[in-house]
Amino acid sequence: MNSLPEQKLYIDGHYQDATSKESFENINPANNESICQVQVANKDDVDRAVVAAHKGFQQWSQMSGAERGRILLKAVHILRQRNQEIAKLEVLDTGKPIQEANCVDVLSGADAIEYFAGLAATLHGQHYDLGQSFAYTRREPLGICAGIGAWNYPIQIACWKSGPALACGNSMIFKPAELTPLTALKLAEIYTEAGVPDGVFNVVQGYAPTGQLLTRHPEIAKVSLTGEVETGKRVMADAAATLKKVTMELGGKSPLIIFADSHLDNAVSASLMANFYTQGEVCSNGTRVFVAESIIEEFLKRLVVRVNKMKIGDPLDPETHVGALISQDHMEKVLGYIEKGVNEGAHLVCGGKRVAHPGLEKGNFVEPTIFAQCTDNMSIVREEIFGPVMAVLSFPDNDEAGVIARANNSPYGLAAGVFTKDIQRGHRVIAQLQAGTCWINNYNITPIEMPFGGYKQSGIGRENSLITIEHYTQLKSVYVEMGDVEAPY
Ligand code: NDP
Repeated sequence: MNSLPEQKLYIDGHYQDATSKESFENINPANNESICQVQVANKDDVDRAVVAAHKGFQQWSQMSGAERGRILLKAVHILRQRNQEIAKLEVLDTGKPIQEANCVDVLSGADAIEYFAGLAATLHGQHYDLGQSFAYTRREPLGICAGIGAWNYPIQIACWKSGPALACGNSMIFKPAELTPLTALKLAEIYTEAGVPDGVFNVVQGYAPTGQLLTRHPEIAKVSLTGEVETGKRVMADAAATLKKVTMELGGKSPLIIFADSHLDNAVSASLMANFYTQGEVCSNGTRVFVAESIIEEFLKRLVVRVNKMKIGDPLDPETHVGALISQDHMEKVLGYIEKGVNEGAHLVCGGKRVAHPGLEKGNFVEPTIFAQCTDNMSIVREEIFGPVMAVLSFPDNDEAGVIARANNSPYGLAAGVFTKDIQRGHRVIAQLQAGTCWINNYNITPIEMPFGGYKQSGIGRENSLITIEHYTQLKSVYVEMGDVEAPY
């Protein structure tokens, strides 16, 4: 039975019915029951959103950065006030534990908008003295930006994209993943309540074809995607027809290297956070855990003790550590990888099974799973699983070069981590790892001040930090003649 009313599109500052007359069912991963129907945007709907976004852009881009910042800060305030309500909705949609959603999802999104709201008044060009004449630059918004989100951190992704886009004076049309359509709509309501002009932030819903209507639309200047590598390639190809700017936050299979001199309990904590937070559905997860031979036995022993204490089950129970995977299909994929791990000869240390939680027997719950004695060519070591599956690999204690080469042997390059008490080794190893976001003696910490993004096939451009301003603005150079115009004819 549906627990929420049918969800509409959010265009031009209010909810609107889709003209498509089509809808899809939104499912709760914890019980595979329907949460609600969601209306699908077709071409007419996307065109309507583009018209609204254009109108919104005209007004928003003419405001001063300080004015935009003030309005965005109001949105931050409302987001924080409504944290618990939105976090609960996020749990219904994603299946992640409420203890995570309450303290991370909405609040980290609010942090991002706050950071860029603070920067809005500081955007500026430069002056170039050319003797008698001079030049200056203006940092101008791009226009209408499309944001296309993945399902693992729906509201955080919507905030990470809209915060900088709006702070820079752009408007945005956002398409959430069809598996998690709810909270971007709440963000749209909040922007309107805060005073963001109508049309500046719009939400259209649907599957890949709705996304394509955005990536192929001639009036849209930029696409920022969070999703899989293969989606990134398709989106970039579609965006190429109109030479849209693109930012891509894509998948990964990141290495976490634990040297023999590491603080072992910290390394164990980081390995858990790098694999089992949000049921393992985190793009930057360190799913290839390389552990020095001399400590691997003790490492696994301590790891298993901690994993055995993790509570799997009802995502709305504040005690739950591991919630439900996003969909039945995804759960089958994850279980398929676990089977492959066993068949390809990895040693199953713990976990590996689906869990039927009392009262939620139909939910997509899978035990946190650890494989040891993994080798580099196994499927579970090469491919992104996006579930609670850790692959532990060993390396000779002092073979720094060897483990770096193995860590880099991947088409992905999103993230990497190193544990060691040797400060020089930490920096030396990180400098050689081919990854965009790295940690020494921690993992998966993503403060808004720090750029986030991938090397190689894990991404293009960055989110968070000052650098993101460059991805949502363009630079205009203006030469000002103070003398006469010289002409040879
Ligand atoms: P997908 O690539 O399947 O989908 C991402 C978004 O793109 C969805 O909204 C999807 O719509 C849409 N989409 C799919 N095909 C197209 C297309 N041809 N044109 C335009 N839009 C399209 O990713 P998931 O949602 O499955 O998310 C998981 C992936 O995201 C993992 O690979 C993960 O690593 C990555 N990710 C990366 C992050 C990063 O910052 N680097 C952070 C979080 C996740 P629909 O939902 O309808 O399919």
